[in-house]
Amino acid sequence: MTVNSRVVIIGAGVAGIRAAKDLPRRIRKPDWDIVLIDQNNYHQYLYRIHEVCNMEYDQKDITVPIARLIDGEKVEFKKAVVTNVDTKRKVVVTETGEEPYDILIVTLGSHPAYFNIPGIRDNSLTLGSFSEAQIVRERIHALLEKSEKRGKAPEIIVGGAGFTGIELTGELTDSLLIWYKEHRIPTPETIVTVVEAMPTILPGWKEELTAEGRKILEGRGVRFYFSDPVVKVGENTLELKSGEVLKPDLFIWTGGVAGDPVCGTDFEIRSRRITIDEYCRARGYEDIFVAGDMACTTNSEGIPQPPTAHIAMVQGDIIARNVAAMINGGEMTKYEFMRAGEIVTLGRTNAIGDLFGLHFSGALAKLMKKFIHLWYVNSIGGLGLLKDS
Ligand SMILES: Cc1cc2nc3c(=O)[nH]c(=O)nc-3n(C[C@H](O)[C@H](O)[C@H](O)COP(=O)(O)OP(=O)(O)OC[C@H]3O[C@@H](n4cnc5c(N)ncnc54)[C@H](O)[C@@H]3O)c2cc1C
Repeated sequence: MTVNSRVVIIGAGVAGIRAAKDLPRRIRKPDWDIVLIDQNNYHQYLYRIHEVCNMEYDQKDITVPIARLIDGEKVEFKKAVVTNVDTKRKVVVTETGEEPYDILIVTLGSHPAYFNIPGIRDNSLTLGSFSEAQIVRERIHALLEKSEKRGKAPEIIVGGAGFTGIELTGELTDSLLIWYKEHRIPTPETIVTVVEAMPTILPGWKEELTAEGRKILEGRGVRFYFSDPVVKVGENTLELKSGEVLKPDLFIWTGGVAGDPVCGTDFEIRSRRITIDEYCRARGYEDIFVAGDMACTTNSEGIPQPPTAHIAMVQGDIIARNVAAMINGGEMTKYEFMRAGEIVTLGRTNAIGDLFGLHFSGALAKLMKKFIHLWYVNSIGGLGLLKDS
């Protein structure tokens, strides 16, 4: 019996699902199997997970079953946690066994970066997945119950004023004001505190946008500490470099991400991610492709860029083409970084951002973000995915 060759994709997120959808129609050799592995049997709209901390959220707005996205006849889905990649033996090691590969596509996304801050890992929550967002929501509700009894609002602190921290803060300010009323908790002057090592929110963004975002959030009761990195975290204490000690009831760390550590040792790493060549292959490997948050994507000057869903999508598509070119024969396509821009939501009705050089804010920006989501959903399986399965 002949054994088919295998393309194995690890991670069914933004980049992995694009590759898994596109590959079957591109590969023309029948003796190749495609296997997709993820720890969950659902795909997450990761760029929306902060909405889980909203008053009401609908799970179908945040996740969709992977079975609804892929052609099960052509792509075999396996639910498993990947623990290692052994590049010498060419196997993916999972908690439940090993998966040999001939070509590997690594798209496991990000994990929190803790920068060796003492105590931070044990005394913070993070917001890197749907299940983590659910934990944040549950902890807030448990705190509200306690706060109702003691008649005082909880101290909620967000570490990091980057993309994730600001979107979460926007959501929390909306929701907490309503939850305080429901629980008859007096509304405090500061609704959420944000601590940031840099002198601004959304470091790297245009000043006019960051100033606008900061003003909106401060108007909703957000207190910022800028240029003051977190140096130590205890069970209910947060020490800043300035010497200030804060007393959080809940500390959510969004201050940095790194590529998934699973593949750390065998690859060249830069800016906490795997370096890639122009075809999105891991440097030094002909048979391993890397995309999205795991890849160190650089601009035309070679400067590493913050990861985004747009980069993950484009790289997922290019990898599908390049893997098919390897199998069928043909030219590979080069990846070239292009910044489309981003929109950051500030709660349910507001957002700021720039797309293709144009500046948007308020309800219009929020509407654009909704359209981007609909466009994405349509691209991975059609708007029918928004209906219950
Ligand atoms: C709160 C938040 C808001 C964001 N907002 C935006 C935005 O507005 N715009 C934007 O462009 N980007 C945004 N991003 C970033 C964007 O979502 C990511 O850049 C993008 O999802 C990266 O895609 P990816 O395919 O690399 O990884 P992911 O989409 O994270 O997919 C990784 C997949 O790997 C799986 N996985 C991970 N580890 C394992 C393991 N050990 N074993 C098995 N499976 C595993 C996960 O379950 C997941 O399905 C946001 C991110 C967050 C957290």
